[in-house]
Amino acid sequence: MSLQISNEQLRTIAREFGTPLYLYNADRITHQYTQLQTAFQHSDKVRFFYACKALTNLSILKHIKQIGCNVDCSSINEARLAVHAGFTPENILYTSNGIAFDEIEEAVALGININIDSLSNLEKFGKKYGHSYPVGIRIRPNIMAGGNLKISTGHENSKFGIPIEQLQDIVQLMQQYNIHIAGLHNHTGSEIKDVDVFMKVSSVFLDMIPHFPELQFLDMGGGFKVPYKDGDEGTDIQLLANEIMAFEKKIAVTYQRNFQIWFEPGKYIVSEAGYLLSKVNVLKPTATTTFAGIDTGFNHLIRPMFYEAYHRIRNISNEKGELKKYAVVGNICETDTFAWDRELNEIREGDVLVFDNAGAYGFEMASNFNSRFRPAEVLVKDGKAILIRKREVFEDLLRNQVEAF
Ligand SMILES: *Cc1c(COP(=O)(O)O)cnc(C)c1O
Repeated sequence: MSLQISNEQLRTIAREFGTPLYLYNADRITHQYTQLQTAFQHSDKVRFFYACKALTNLSILKHIKQIGCNVDCSSINEARLAVHAGFTPENILYTSNGIAFDEIEEAVALGININIDSLSNLEKFGKKYGHSYPVGIRIRPNIMAGGNLKISTGHENSKFGIPIEQLQDIVQLMQQYNIHIAGLHNHTGSEIKDVDVFMKVSSVFLDMIPHFPELQFLDMGGGFKVPYKDGDEGTDIQLLANEIMAFEKKIAVTYQRNFQIWFEPGKYIVSEAGYLLSKVNVLKPTATTTFAGIDTGFNHLIRPMFYEAYHRIRNISNEKGELKKYAVVGNICETDTFAWDRELNEIREGDVLVFDNAGAYGFEMASNFNSRFRPAEVLVKDGKAILIRKREVFEDLLRNQVEAF
């Protein structure tokens, strides 16, 4: 099992498959899941659902399934991909938000687990299915957490979930339509380092439990933080596990009931398994900085521009080169600065730069802006590098266009 892909292998893969390229390490995905399993080994009530919107490539989903992890979907198409990858319905969760009711009908037809996030859809669900199909409800606990506002989803201005102050309305709908509410769900946001946030949510759940006699699971969402910068700390998973096990005891003592505890980690599972490989097209020395213009842009990795996210960048073509400062910029007609004043081993045109932590929300958020192709994807599994998505070609840009005249 190797947690990192060596620079030598990265260089070979860049040569073989070309750049820009997304590359994933199956061993690292396995390792991340094993870390979770190990931390929670003394609880037989915990289930993990990989939040696949982080990275939905079918080969990744199949690997996730092989290692025994479940899957959480954020759209009905993700649920269809999960079915296609071979997951059984009971191992698929669909946490919906703001969707048309027909997606929920389709999810019921697939037989998968569902979390509903509005009173409106809960009422439609009750009218149509009554007690016949167990369902979870997504709560908005009015807790601010997460790496930045764009990825905070549980606060009092968030669109996500049913606001906790509408608890009586939930209970009223449940009674009116005899809805089988089997779970309480919350996802407070992404990049939550502080275990306390999860425990705040758990105390919100604790107070809600008596209202729901048929509960089977409490779903704490995802959002575990992983290190991006040197010296960054991720969420302390063992601490989380200890606190959650204490919470399970508290439920048992308080109510003489017990529930499954569900988590939906996305980034934690795949972020560190992924790399974006890119080649330097041009060097442009100026009065203020030297620009290194690379063969990718925010059309392929939007996180630095969208979230001001930091990604470690390494020059793997000149590992011993003198450290110099660069502005690493994309080739898109738009200011797409990946890094400013970044110290890197001296860059020459043609060198390959690697972005770390590119597994989560990398390819997945890529677009064809500027009519550029989306990159190929490669997976290293059992020591072999395999192509898992072809690089796009010109025909892909023409597909679905209707040449009306
Ligand atoms: C995005 C999302 C997750 C995963 O978040 P990460 O920060 O990638 O762990 C989990 N649950 C829901 C409902 C989500 O929307």
